[in-house]
Parts: sequence; structure tokens; C-alpha cells
Amino acid sequence: MIAPLAAPSPSAPAKAPYPLVSVRNLCKHYALRAGWGFGHSVFKAVENVSFDIMPNETLGLVGESGSGKSTIGRAVTMLNPPTSGVVAFEGVDLAEQSGRDMRRMRQRMQMVFQDPYSALNPRMTVGDYVAEPLVIHGLCKTAAERRDLVAELFSKVGLDPRFMARFPHQFSGGQRQRICIARAIGVRPSFIVADEPIAALDVSIQAQVVNLLQDLQEEMGLAYLFISHDLRMVRYLCHRVAVIWKGRIVELAPSAALYGNPLHPYTRRLLSAVPVPDPALERARTRLPEVAALPDDPLAHELVEAEPGHYVARAALS
Ligand code: ADP
Ligand code: MG
Repeated sequence: MIAPLAAPSPSAPAKAPYPLVSVRNLCKHYALRAGWGFGHSVFKAVENVSFDIMPNETLGLVGESGSGKSTIGRAVTMLNPPTSGVVAFEGVDLAEQSGRDMRRMRQRMQMVFQDPYSALNPRMTVGDYVAEPLVIHGLCKTAAERRDLVAELFSKVGLDPRFMARFPHQFSGGQRQRICIARAIGVRPSFIVADEPIAALDVSIQAQVVNLLQDLQEEMGLAYLFISHDLRMVRYLCHRVAVIWKGRIVELAPSAALYGNPLHPYTRRLLSAVPVPDPALERARTRLPEVAALPDDPLAHELVEAEPGHYVARAALS
């Protein structure tokens, strides 16, 4: 149990002294059938993950494909509950919530996904799609009220409210992601898990969507868990960053410390794979070799505070 993870980064504008989201010893295991259905083994997709997210903070989650990022995102919102461990939201243990309380909590936590087209319903106007959760949560009483709210949400995400009556196929990828974001913020959440929200978008559009997320954070006081394999975007957007390797956090630090002084060999390897815009530097850049897996020793994986707020797996320090 690592208690002092609550420390926000100096740049994170913490409004309250307590975390909005607390995750402790989160594990997600999948039973795998071995051969002809005889016996089974367990695949540890996420193992003993702990972190906090402060109100108004963006925590980045980086790691290669298959490292467990989406599993963590879905466990935190209870979309796919953890095998063990605690997820607390606004100080309340989510596993102990009744159905009705959980629905209310869910309103405060939203998700935005990588592929906005598959999230949208092709037979529903985008206006109805954005209005749906408002209706479900009883946030508007009359049709006129609903229309006004949806129009306001469209403006907020940079879309012309006249587009409300259109269908998803009439929009570009970036516009579709704006529609999904409008739906997510309509219920006034305080926390959004954004799972690779820009990965499917044109590079030219990615920065616009990231800037929108940033503007909304400021305006609405949102906290984000921002899942991405784009390390440059994570550095730009996130106050703190957690590096996931084979289902575990191996390093967690304020962005400047993580990028300026990466302590774990896996973090260094990830950073060595980021292209640099200078051609001479880019030619000289070498990708660091594969990092050898650690023995399955909990002590080796334990996070220790190497510098204030900068946590790294103990094994990387020895
Ligand atoms: P990421 O988002 O970092 O790419 P995921 O969280 O999607 O990784 O997946 C982590 C690991 O868990 C992967 O190896 C994946 O194959 C495995 N996994 C995900 N869902 C299941 C499942 N339902 N059953 C078995 N294994 C799964
Ligand atoms: Mg994923």
C-alpha cells in the first residue's frame, strides 16, 4: 500500500486537499482456458496499481499496446470492475455502492473513447445522441429545454448547433469526437477517462481536440485520466504521468520530472522511441534495447519515492 501518492504535482491546480479519484492495489485478472478446456491459468492484465487524481488534474497513462491501460480506465469507471483492489471516487468506495447510488456516481464520471464513429449510433441524429444522457438523468424537463441544452453543448465543443439534426456519417472524425465529448460533458461530470481519444484522428486535428479538452477542463474544473501512447501529447496535456509496463505502474511523476529525468529503463526506452523534429538529432537518435522483465517479486515492483512526487519501481533503483 503506497499511501503518499496523494501529493499533487506543483503545477496541478488542486482545489481540495483530498483526491477526486483514489485507486489502491487494483488488479484485473482474466481466467485463460488451457488447451481442451482442462484447467485454466490466470492472466494478470493489471497488477497492484495505485494512484490518485486530484480535482482539476490530468493524469496521463502511457505504455505500449497491451500493457493494460484500457483495462485500468474501464476498472476505474466500473465499466469492467476490478478483480480486487479499491476504487474510490469523491472519497466513496465504488464497490460498496447500490445500483441507484452507482448510477448517480456514473453521471459524475464519463468516458471518451478512441473511435468516435463506433460510439455513435448511425441511425440517431447527433442531437438526440447528445441529449440521451440528459434525458436518462432527468436533466431537462421539456423538449425546448433539451434543445437549448444540446445547442449550448454543441457551441461549447466548437460545433454549429444547426448540425444537431444531422447523422454521424455527415461529420469528420474530429467533429465526431467533439460530439462524443459534448455527450460526455452534458451530465456535468467532474472526471473523464479519455482512452486514446485522439489516436484515430488526423494529426492536424489531434491538437484541436486536445486543446478543447484543456479548455473544458479550465471551464468546468474537470479532472482527466488521459490514456495515450502519444508521449508528446501527454507531456503537453498532463500534469502528472504514470508509465504502465506489463500491467504495472513502473514510474509516476510530474510531467517535467518524468520527461526530464526518467528513472526507469522502460520509461527511457519509451522516450527513446519518440521522434524529434530536428533532422540531425533524429538521425543520431538510437532506440534503447528491450527491457528485461522483472522477477515476480512484489518488493521489486513496489513504488518508492526517489524524489519528491517522483515514484519509481524499487528494482529500477538497485
Ligand atoms: P492497452 O489498452 O494498454 O492496449 P488493454 O488494457 O486493452 O491494453 O489489455 C491489456 C491486456 O489484457 C492485453 O494483453 C489484452 O489482451 C488482455 N485482455 C483484455 N481484455 C481481456 C479479456 N476479456 N480476456 C482476456 N484478456 C484480456
Ligand atoms: Mg487500449
